[in-house]
Amino acid sequence: GDALEFREVGKSYAVRGAALPVIDGIDLACPPGSFTALIGPSGCGKSTLLRIAMGLEPVDAGAVTIGGQRPDIARKAGRIGVAFQDAALLPWRNVTENVALPLDVLGRSKRRAAAEIQHLIALVGLEKFRSAVPAELSGGMRQRVAIARSLVTSPTVLLMDEPFGALDLILRRQMNLELQRIWLERRATTLLVTHGIDEAVFLADRVVVMGGRPGRIVGTIDVPLERPRP
Ligand code: ADP
Ligand code: ADP
Repeated sequence: GDALEFREVGKSYAVRGAALPVIDGIDLACPPGSFTALIGPSGCGKSTLLRIAMGLEPVDAGAVTIGGQRPDIARKAGRIGVAFQDAALLPWRNVTENVALPLDVLGRSKRRAAAEIQHLIALVGLEKFRSAVPAELSGGMRQRVAIARSLVTSPTVLLMDEPFGALDLILRRQMNLELQRIWLERRATTLLVTHGIDEAVFLADRVVVMGGRPGRIVGTIDVPLERPRP
């Protein structure tokens, strides 16, 4: 994984002509291969912070770097994998084609990646569904496709915003176990936004708590790990 670093990040939105500050001086360093969970009340700026890290939103102050580079450059190089609460699959494309989508976006060869695509589909347990279209899949299976898709460019950084937020508790647990297995295999630097504190503690080696308006970091919990560290 690459280091993911937020340095004194500040962000405001223009709302009815006035600047509405949503993030105020976030300093956060995610070391290569680490797993950080980001929790905090609704509206404290977690999703905004993730969109900034994806290179989709400019900052007003400070900087974010991925392996020392700007996020938009890292994204265009395929070094960022993303997964959201809504799997956002293309309904007319089958599982294999949906997993391959980021390669299309980056103009990379799908033929050369064919073995990796099949590996990722197997990694999320969908071997039997590689030709199925999203309408034939359950919610959990669609999220699995989205997770496989997030890995297809071999990203060094994974950014996830409530990827299992729409799933029931039992399925969430199962997906968390799968996510942990994937993280152990891939060692991408991972930043996960979640509302589940038990999920955060279970998965992450560090839980960062945001709060306030504008959002800032109000606490950090280091989770002692019994599993192998990167
Ligand atoms: P969280 O993910 O913690 O719930 P968000 O990052 O989604 O928080 O939002 C933080 C604040 O920024 C909220 O008050 C939200 O209404 C505001 N906000 C988010 N996106 C925009 C936008 N595009 N324009 C204006 N305000 C926004
Ligand atoms: P208890 O009720 O005894 O505190 P939990 O119900 O929290 O135990 O956890 C039971 C098992 O599930 C444990 O082995 C734990 O590691 C695992 N686990 C806990 N939370 C999660 C989660 N969010 N996702 C996957 N596994 C989890």
